[in-house]
Amino acid sequence: MSVLVYIENVDGAFKKSGFEALTYAKAIGDLTGKTVAALSIGQVEQESLEKLGTYGISHVVQVDSGRLKQFVNQAYAAVIADVAKHLQATTIVLSNSFSGKGLAPRIAAKLGAALADGAISLPIIEADIWQIKKSVFSSKAIATDKLRTTTKVIALTPNVFEVKESPVSTEITAYEPSINTTDFSTVIKDIVRTTDKVSLPEADIVVSAGRGLKGPENWGMIEELANVLGAATACSKPVSDAGWRPHAEHVGQTGLAVSPSLYIAIGISGAIQHLAGVSSSKTIVVINKDPEAPFFKVADYGIVGDAFEVVPQLIEALKAHNI
Ligand code: FAD
Repeated sequence: MSVLVYIENVDGAFKKSGFEALTYAKAIGDLTGKTVAALSIGQVEQESLEKLGTYGISHVVQVDSGRLKQFVNQAYAAVIADVAKHLQATTIVLSNSFSGKGLAPRIAAKLGAALADGAISLPIIEADIWQIKKSVFSSKAIATDKLRTTTKVIALTPNVFEVKESPVSTEITAYEPSINTTDFSTVIKDIVRTTDKVSLPEADIVVSAGRGLKGPENWGMIEELANVLGAATACSKPVSDAGWRPHAEHVGQTGLAVSPSLYIAIGISGAIQHLAGVSSSKTIVVINKDPEAPFFKVADYGIVGDAFEVVPQLIEALKAHNI
């Protein structure tokens, strides 16, 4: 009876959402007195696997079969379910990332488990029933899932659970899963990257802009500032509604939640619905020409000024200092 947490990697590098899932799984282990094991699939350096001990995980299972080099939904779900059975894990935790959204229901079906997808809280456990809060209707409402089965699958919403370190030494064991040819009914022929930009949910720095930018033609300086900082770009809802930027960049209550180390908000008023998706950012810098803009109330640093004057000066200053 243990907790198994699956940590995603991209090209061998674990994702931030995976560390969040680790921290969440460790908290469930502490809550229930169960041991926690982490599962990594695909090629990951030994050093990176050992570093998982930083998050309090003392057992890591590594599945490194050549056939699993690329992510295949059905096959990965089969492997995770197989490892869960092997370890007699009754709680399976993963991130509700793009891949996690496909994996979680498949794993639950394979294990006959109840599923909480999009979890935003730790469980409240009463008489073996686990109550877990989740965001629904594009985060417009919060629902409570009641998990009544012995085995449970929990897919954690990214960027809602803070990563915490509690270092222990880690034992890594290799595992050869039983996978069928039918698990590979989807064949990945080629992976084409459409952008080299930093992924927004994973970004450590986010440069975000709002209606104060006046139109899509003015986004060049936002892109440039993001490039100089190695940041992802984001926007407010009206901006993506107007088609100035893609919907994938919309952050807030009805968009993505982000929790970067640095969030720079340019020409965004700071409406409560926008703040809902960004308030867990470690440092918030606001650039707005209106000193009364609500965003300044939650800012760590504020610049009252015209974005069209401030942003080019900021870019020049950063370039001058080779940042
Ligand atoms: P505005 O409110 O128009 O603010 C523009 C800001 O730019 C102002 O503060 C202005 O002073 C400043 N400005 C103007 N010119 C300049 C300049 N030259 N230099 C510097 N500053 C300048 N919004 C979201 O963002 N995300 C959501 O998920 C979201 N969900 C919503 C859900 C619901 C149910 C509802 C009702 C609303 C939602 N909204 C959401 C909309 C939200 O209420 C605000 O309307 C929106 O965030 C405002 O966007 P904005 O700050 O870009 O524009």
